[in-house]
Amino acid sequence: MNRPLIIILLLAMLALGWWRLHPAEDGVRRTRLLMGTVVEIVAQGADAQDAVDAAFAEMVRLEKLLSRHVPESDVSRISASETGGEVTPETAQVIALGLEIAAKSGGAFDLTLGRLKSLWKIEDEAPTIPSQSDITKALAGIGPHALQLDGQLVRKRQPQLLIDLGGIAKGFIVDRAVDVLKAHGIASAAVNAGGDMYLLGSKAARPWRIGIQHPRSADAILATVEVSDRAVVTSGDYERYFERDGVRYHHIFDPKTGQPARRCQSVTIIADSVALGDALATAVFVLGPQQGLELLKQFPQTEGLIVAADDTLHKSPGWDHYEAAP
Ligand code: FAD
Ligand code: MG
Repeated sequence: MNRPLIIILLLAMLALGWWRLHPAEDGVRRTRLLMGTVVEIVAQGADAQDAVDAAFAEMVRLEKLLSRHVPESDVSRISASETGGEVTPETAQVIALGLEIAAKSGGAFDLTLGRLKSLWKIEDEAPTIPSQSDITKALAGIGPHALQLDGQLVRKRQPQLLIDLGGIAKGFIVDRAVDVLKAHGIASAAVNAGGDMYLLGSKAARPWRIGIQHPRSADAILATVEVSDRAVVTSGDYERYFERDGVRYHHIFDPKTGQPARRCQSVTIIADSVALGDALATAVFVLGPQQGLELLKQFPQTEGLIVAADDTLHKSPGWDHYEAAP
């Protein structure tokens, strides 16, 4: 091999080695389609590539346990059984938190709405407005009391009950991805699963800045928050919906009526964990601003920003601590 070529190769190897030790300032940024949504992970650190791979692998594993779209998942298995059965520790953890929020929200948050969700088909190609008698049948005998958890044993009190963890499991899965990133030594990362976010550490020595979308204007920012080591979760009526005769039908249901909840346009929660933020965003959306802010008082270090159906803005007392100038 001639000398200039050896020098070029050596320089290239040195450059590669340097690059591996000093990843691009922006770190690793990757997206994958999971849980019916785009999941993005941004991570900084020497092991960021492997860490992000491992975080995605964990999300894939958990989706297989928690999805009603996967026939052999814990959720599908329990739904198919008339009485219930054993679930994995992860699924038990999600159900335990879901049942806690169900109790504290007076049933506004409800893991037993699977049949109602199947009836409306809001996330399918051809959604329908069901008849009142079909809605009444889908709601019969369900509610938080219809599901019991004893360790890893789930008991169904109503044989046809279909579990739906759609209002909480995405958050739990994001939390687990963050755990994997931390276990790989990552100190700065952002994980976003379609509005369920966790912001780990800081970005360029400053808190992460997150813009919250206006529910009625895709290009407008409703608020900007600055957070470190916090979850920021938004539930809204503007992502998964259809309109008929000027009425918007979306995917967050009021368990009392079986209809899409009508009190809010969007709810953003800042919390310690994404699972908690996810469940609370859905619960507050159903409850509306007054009862929703009451619910948040039960959770320390948890804040909320609510856009009510009448366009009014409502904030929990500590929200302004996080809000930054746009
Ligand atoms: P959130 O407000 O957090 O949740 C709304 C969802 O919660 C509803 O869609 C419903 O599932 C449920 N819900 C409605 N009302 C209530 C209530 N009162 N109490 C409690 N829960 C309620 N989508 C696809 O299109 N294809 C998929 O293959 C797919 N797989 C998924 C797998 C997993 C493990 C998860 C967690 C979600 C998956 N999804 C999939 C998305 C899912 O169907 C929901 O659209 C999504 O979870 C809604 O999350 P959100 O943050 O937008 O809204
Ligand atoms: Mg939710």
